[in-house]
Amino acid sequence: MMLLSGAHLASGDVVDVMLDGDRVAQVGPVASFGVPAGVEVVDLSGYLLAGAFAEPHVHLDKAFTVDAVDNPAGTLAGAMAGYGALLATATDQDVRARARRALLHLIANGVTAVRTHVGCGRLLGTRAIESVVAVREELREHVGLEIVAHIGGPGPGESWAMHADRLRAALDAGADAVGGNPAIEENPVEALQACLAVAAERGCPVDLHTDETTAADVLTLRELAQLAAAVPVPVTASHCVSLGQQPAQVAAEVASALAAAGVDVVTLPATNLYLQGRENVPAPRGLTALDALQTGGVRVAAGGDNAGDPFNPTGRLDPLEAAALLVTAGHRSIEQAWAMVGSTARAVIGAEPAGPEPGARADLVAIRARSVQEAIALAPADRWVWRAGRLLSRTQVRRSGVTAELDR
Ligand SMILES: [Zn+2]
Repeated sequence: MMLLSGAHLASGDVVDVMLDGDRVAQVGPVASFGVPAGVEVVDLSGYLLAGAFAEPHVHLDKAFTVDAVDNPAGTLAGAMAGYGALLATATDQDVRARARRALLHLIANGVTAVRTHVGCGRLLGTRAIESVVAVREELREHVGLEIVAHIGGPGPGESWAMHADRLRAALDAGADAVGGNPAIEENPVEALQACLAVAAERGCPVDLHTDETTAADVLTLRELAQLAAAVPVPVTASHCVSLGQQPAQVAAEVASALAAAGVDVVTLPATNLYLQGRENVPAPRGLTALDALQTGGVRVAAGGDNAGDPFNPTGRLDPLEAAALLVTAGHRSIEQAWAMVGSTARAVIGAEPAGPEPGARADLVAIRARSVQEAIALAPADRWVWRAGRLLSRTQVRRSGVTAELDR
């Protein structure tokens, strides 16, 4: 057992929280319940305590490659071309070390469940999948890692049957879900059909990079909603940038089709703001139609996508960065943004709900902040992280000089 004492909750209450095994046993006012002898007590005064975050969309295999890859145009096409050139020289050990480092940053920031897209297919085979599977096994005790086979399309003269076989090979190599980028394939509808067919056959989730462009005439999301309604597996559409470029009526229609089909959406504000809209005047924000989706009843989570790679040379591997961008660039409320990187993100990737509530799974993060607003605004590095009731990580900042009083 472990007592977390004097923590602020998102509601503003200040409470004690007792953990027992992998569960939250009790929550109540400070000093309101007895503490058996020998129970470890953690003083969380000055900290906000909440359910641990989930990262619903990151590219661990690409992290920290920005110095090795050119993308002078700063576009998606430029990033893909630059990264393609790196594939020839990146070793498996390199991929493994970078993925592990990125994952540890996520854990330190309060993430206990992660969905990563990993490149595979014609150019790469299953090498990167195997490297990230090795990292998943190394850190199995500390983080839930779901691997999506982010497959490139077939080459000239190759068939969609071959594409499907490559997806099966990625799943056989340890990937948990089907991915891909149908909107940029030569035949987007056939690409969608191939991905959904393999997912249905294997009974695994699908998460597709969808319409990652401000070109309003690209809208494969409509077809995805139709096809998804017929497959009995969880379907997620990531990015959905071009939906944000549609007239309100079209966005509302597509949102209601997605809601009816049970398709979730993951928005990736940092990468969209970096890559999108460079050729447009005036430049759009490049985010999906968040209002239409949420009003239409679609579950929308938010992720970080890229970290120090040609798709986003910044990227802090911190859900609080995505949350802040959702507020400033996505016009979400503080409460909406908080849920999109927390409870909704966990739900979208199938992670068990968690939080400081009796009976809930004890995946928790404590952030040195007195409210959710302060946590998102200041994104303090000082954090405690628990997974299944076990302390995983603690980050402490020590200031000196004129700023020392901030640590008191
Ligand atoms: Zn992505």
